[in-house]
Amino acid sequence: MNFRSITDIRKAVKTGEISLQDVVRHYADNIEQNNSDINAVVTLDVDQALADAERIQGKIDNSEAGKLAGAVIGIKDLICEKDKQTTCASNILSNFESIYDATVIERLKEEDAVLLGRLNMDEFAMGSSNENTIFGPARNPHDTSKVPGGSSGGSAAAVAAEFSAATLGSDTGGSIRQPASYCGVVGLKPTYGRVSRYGLVAYASSFDCIGPLTNTVEDAAEMLEVISGYDPNDNTSSSRAVPDYSSYVKEPQSNIKIGVPEEYFGEGLDAEIREGIESRLSALEQEGVELVPIHLPHMKYGIATYYILATAEASSNLARYDGIRYGHRANIRDVKEELKKEKAAIKEQMELATGDKKVTLGKELEEVDSSLIRLYKKSRTEGFGTEVKRRIMLGTYVLSAGYYDAYYGKAQKVRRLIKEDFTKAFEDVDVIVSPTAPTTAFDIGSKTDDPLQMYLNDVYTITANLAGICGINVPAGTHSNGLPYGLQFMADTFEEGKLLNAARLIERQSEVETI
Ligand code: GLN
Repeated sequence: MNFRSITDIRKAVKTGEISLQDVVRHYADNIEQNNSDINAVVTLDVDQALADAERIQGKIDNSEAGKLAGAVIGIKDLICEKDKQTTCASNILSNFESIYDATVIERLKEEDAVLLGRLNMDEFAMGSSNENTIFGPARNPHDTSKVPGGSSGGSAAAVAAEFSAATLGSDTGGSIRQPASYCGVVGLKPTYGRVSRYGLVAYASSFDCIGPLTNTVEDAAEMLEVISGYDPNDNTSSSRAVPDYSSYVKEPQSNIKIGVPEEYFGEGLDAEIREGIESRLSALEQEGVELVPIHLPHMKYGIATYYILATAEASSNLARYDGIRYGHRANIRDVKEELKKEKAAIKEQMELATGDKKVTLGKELEEVDSSLIRLYKKSRTEGFGTEVKRRIMLGTYVLSAGYYDAYYGKAQKVRRLIKEDFTKAFEDVDVIVSPTAPTTAFDIGSKTDDPLQMYLNDVYTITANLAGICGINVPAGTHSNGLPYGLQFMADTFEEGKLLNAARLIERQSEVETI
């Protein structure tokens, strides 16, 4: 198949150049051939997708199909799809099947998208490399010894490997944009509240956003248009009208002001990425864009603030997984057996200590004698992976009575300062530019023992989530190591149009280069 973008595929399907079933077959064949290397797709129902394609083809033929007819889309495995496994790449949900569609899924279906494949990710969206997963790491299609980024690693890899035309991911601190940068695709994190979170398994509710990963900026605009808008099921979703996002992409304006924050181009950034972005910006200047040096002084507190607030929210959100109502439940017989053994050991010790052969256990046992509490503990111990446990402990700690003010309360205040930095900057500029990630994709396994190194990957993306503003990764070049890297634009809340406009200017430069 010669088409990669949804817009091109849709045209080809409309004119009869290719059937929608053949489009699905094309992706299914790619998955069959290459997924054993890439490991992006974790569940697949080709028959269902083909049946959907046939039905939608009928609608196309009768000119009654929706906006996304022709689009074949993969879904990160934490967005609920009715009757499909929604595992969050976690043992605790490994046998969980959703009984309803998330609002974004409903909207994609209403506009006649075909859904193909559930995608690998970091467990509960915690990670930057897609290595924290029960399915084994996803791999970067540009070099399978490298990570695809995370947590939406499967979503970015699937687009880059041509397993679907587009995917949905989620972004709490950079999880759409960073993997998009590592895999050389477009990834958009909408403004908080632009897209309903109903049916998105929660990680950190005041940060989480669903957004598209695509081959082109126009595809991102079209997907965003479909998934955005008020949802009575999500009180944090905004009732603002959804603009015609595609219109910002068709004829992008270059009479815009782009803020260049010094803090985002300092130490830690790969020199070649810096130069690459700078040369992109000089080319934009030639087109009439005004570059404005700006400052976002509280950026340096972004990572610390995020890891206090996001873990606090996570520890509370993840409390619901008790193994009783749903999710993994430890074997109750094992729990009872352990309890029996423990009681026997205590009894034996007491008998030894007292010389009394007929000790009856009383109060001493209250602490050990709750098989329910034990069942919770064992289910959670077995169900959650190391990184998730680390964050639950961190979050519980920063919320605990003695530390709440020093950590959680303080971090909330810093979050406000970071937001104010952006508000002030956007008084003067339309968008802000920065790198998306400090480096290109790194080796699988190279950062797994050092969580802090892993956390530093999000240094440029995390502030947008803290401030609730929107951001996009657009491919910006290929490093001399052969790997792609992107640049990020950020725009004020509900200014996705400006974001798409600026991203399209960069994309257009790349098109000129390849002609
Ligand atoms: N990498 C960041 C984290 O581990 C961001 C994750 C995300 O955006 N879901 O928390």
